[in-house]
Amino acid sequence: MTSKKQVYDFIIIGTGASGSVLAHYLSSAGADVCLLEAGKHYQAHEFPSDELHANTQLMWNGGMDPSKDARTVFLRARVAGGGTIINNCLLDRFDDIALDDFRTKSGAAFYNRATMDTHYSEVESHLNLEYISESDWNGNARLYAEGFDKLGLQRAPLRRGQNNCNNANNDCVVCLGGCPRESKQSMAVSFLPSALARGAQLKEQFHVQQIIHGPQQVAVYGSHKGHQQVLYSRKCILAAGSLGSTELLLKSGFGVELPALGQGFHCHPQFMTIALMDEIVDAHKGAFQALKSDDIRFRKQGFKLENVFAGPAAIAMLKTGFGLEHQDFMAEYRKMACIEVAIRDEIPGTIQLNNQGRLVLDKPLSDIDHQRAEAGKQQIRDIFAAVRARSIMESPLCIALHLMGGCNIGQKAADSVVNDGFEVHGFKNLVIADGSIYPMAPGINPSLTIMAQSHRASQVLLAECGYTDTSNQPEYSLHKVVSL
Ligand SMILES: Cc1cc2nc3c(=O)[nH]c(=O)nc-3n(C[C@H](O)[C@H](O)[C@H](O)COP(=O)(O)OP(=O)(O)OC[C@H]3O[C@@H](n4cnc5c(N)ncnc54)[C@H](O)[C@@H]3O)c2cc1C
Repeated sequence: MTSKKQVYDFIIIGTGASGSVLAHYLSSAGADVCLLEAGKHYQAHEFPSDELHANTQLMWNGGMDPSKDARTVFLRARVAGGGTIINNCLLDRFDDIALDDFRTKSGAAFYNRATMDTHYSEVESHLNLEYISESDWNGNARLYAEGFDKLGLQRAPLRRGQNNCNNANNDCVVCLGGCPRESKQSMAVSFLPSALARGAQLKEQFHVQQIIHGPQQVAVYGSHKGHQQVLYSRKCILAAGSLGSTELLLKSGFGVELPALGQGFHCHPQFMTIALMDEIVDAHKGAFQALKSDDIRFRKQGFKLENVFAGPAAIAMLKTGFGLEHQDFMAEYRKMACIEVAIRDEIPGTIQLNNQGRLVLDKPLSDIDHQRAEAGKQQIRDIFAAVRARSIMESPLCIALHLMGGCNIGQKAADSVVNDGFEVHGFKNLVIADGSIYPMAPGINPSLTIMAQSHRASQVLLAECGYTDTSNQPEYSLHKVVSL
């Protein structure tokens, strides 16, 4: 007896900011959606309770993906909910500078204020967003504000996806290992459960290894909890993030037709400066991020400053040296204040495979990047001097959390991978709307725009299928009207 092959309408690879949003809107319209995720699907109370296990259980390669020159460490999530589980959920709309630059670089007309605002408003309506208020400032935020005010610099509260954090009484730094309170507005408490409630299937611990594109269907090969499997869909959406989506297309041989695949890699390089204060700061307590720079001069110079901190294991890694000196430094953990500079990196790097099929991330910092980082570090020195820091430690380690590009959006296959309808050039059944399509670094937190452009991609897909209004018809069945 032969069993009939199941063909999904959409297989979505990855459940982060892009995949979960797409799954929600497509399954709301009645589409048959299957989500594949390499990581585990945790309930809030199951998240690891310490930094070591959070890194090893929730991130690819334990959170230690180095650049080719080993000067930068890339962090990326491997867990249902993707980066939204381990990020700080700071959710910003792009400003006009970023939208104009994206439109000019890619030729994609939808990167404009009016169009993107409709997508931002739609995805934001599913999230609880709060500005971190002064009453929630911890010692680190108070020092940041004091320094900015003394130097006459503009600052602004950060906007975060959170709901009932009770910041004053919780150590929110644990949130970077998955929020145990279901407060952070990650995909785990928003678009992912709503997609599942609307019939989307999730296969967790499914590591996709190859995609084969056919004229009617896409075959997706991978290992599911250790067993090889192949699944089929009419369309396949790559939502595996900048590195994951690019790696999959490279491993599946698409580089031959798509010369731009793996180019245009950006990451907002970040550097942390730690100040040792005479008094207890307790930067790990409460809202561990509250304020950002809001100075147009900084934006024009290509950097921003945020008050930030990290758990003891990460702080220990930022400090060079060994032995007693290192131990003495760590003994002052409660007296540390910290500010990071994140730069808008100008010169792109590349994502490639070596001859063993492993990712090689070539992202040296350019002279312009160094200048931007130095301009930010100088401001931080001045801020910490203004608040009477005893000493400062500028970490030489470059950290990259915002991974973007590799499958950039554009008009032609010669210099881009995806068109402005989110279709991979020349492969009509492959769709991408995740961070990999960014044509450049925006210099702004990327995840809200990834969600917004993924909402747009869902509408493009549904319209293509003859279905234009998803808002009020949750019972609609895609199969009744179209065959993809
Ligand atoms: C520590 C940290 C803090 C951050 N803070 C912020 C912040 O405050 N604000 C902000 O806007 N951004 C922040 N970011 C960045 C933000 O989280 C990402 O930009 C965003 O999650 C990217 O969305 P995505 O959909 O492109 O990919 P992801 O969210 O990374 O999702 C990709 C998913 O695909 C899965 N996957 C990859 N390859 C495969 C495969 N072969 N098979 C199956 N599954 C696969 C991965 O496991 C992952 O779950 C932060 C990131 C980090 C690491």
